[in-house]
Amino acid sequence: MPANLENTLVIGISSRALFDLERENSIFENEGLNAYAQYQRENEKRVLEPGTAFPLVEALLKLNDKLGEHMVEVVIMSQNNPQTGLRVMNSIDFYNLAITRAAFSGGESLGPFLSAYSVDLYLSKNLEDVQDAIDHGIAAAQLYAPPGGFNPDADEIRIAFDGDAVLFSEDSEVIFKQQGLDAFLEHEKVFASLPLPEGPFGRVLKTLSRIKSLSDKPLVRIALVTARDRPAHERVILTLRSWGVEVDEAHFLGGLPKNEVLRAFNAHIFFDDQDKHAGPASEHVPSARVPYKTSSELYDKDAPGPDSAH
Ligand SMILES: [Mg+2]
Repeated sequence: MPANLENTLVIGISSRALFDLERENSIFENEGLNAYAQYQRENEKRVLEPGTAFPLVEALLKLNDKLGEHMVEVVIMSQNNPQTGLRVMNSIDFYNLAITRAAFSGGESLGPFLSAYSVDLYLSKNLEDVQDAIDHGIAAAQLYAPPGGFNPDADEIRIAFDGDAVLFSEDSEVIFKQQGLDAFLEHEKVFASLPLPEGPFGRVLKTLSRIKSLSDKPLVRIALVTARDRPAHERVILTLRSWGVEVDEAHFLGGLPKNEVLRAFNAHIFFDDQDKHAGPASEHVPSARVPYKTSSELYDKDAPGPDSAH
């Protein structure tokens, strides 16, 4: 286990993102901490079912073996106390997941601990915790419920990203929202050769791309799935080029729904800032919404998120 995590992708993940803890969570919410703790103790030996991020985590940890290098580190970041966390650790053993680090904060905010564990990406089902991570400068996303019947590719990890307000900043999208399509297209044409500013997941993409380049074998496949279309595609392609990043696939959908493309790509995970894209996609592939708070006061895009049933 390397102590230097500088070149490693470190993913912090809540126990409820890794395992199905919905029943346990509703006991906590409806009956309180004591009832929850008692239930967890009584069921300590019962293995938890996989949650939304399980296929991604399992595949990323196997990638270390395939690369022969420790490039991905997964840390459990939980507000549980260490006692109730035991069931989670037992389940990690059962599934043979190479997760060694875990933080059980006993109800305290996890935000301050994320940088202590060098977390690059934080995944949770709890919006407050995700926002807390973002407020601490960490890329973070809120997971939807797992899709039914998802069957991940066994050889290749497939990760799909939205462009604006995920890989890239939301500057251009704000122009679209405030001034309309024509103004947006004109703006993107004028600034086509100027790289888009990095968005909340820009660094995650760069790290993944570096890890991917360590092997000649197709171990990681990356797709860009964006509502942009011609001629706004050019600035995106030139931006990725300027970052030294190559994506394997790019889908410029121009208003077509994203969910069918995500189903065809069979993503282990899909990240989008808008519920109208990530929500329908979550019925086919594990999906997460990336809250983008910095200028949320500029326009209202806070449609229902992963907390609302679908
Ligand atoms: Mg977007």
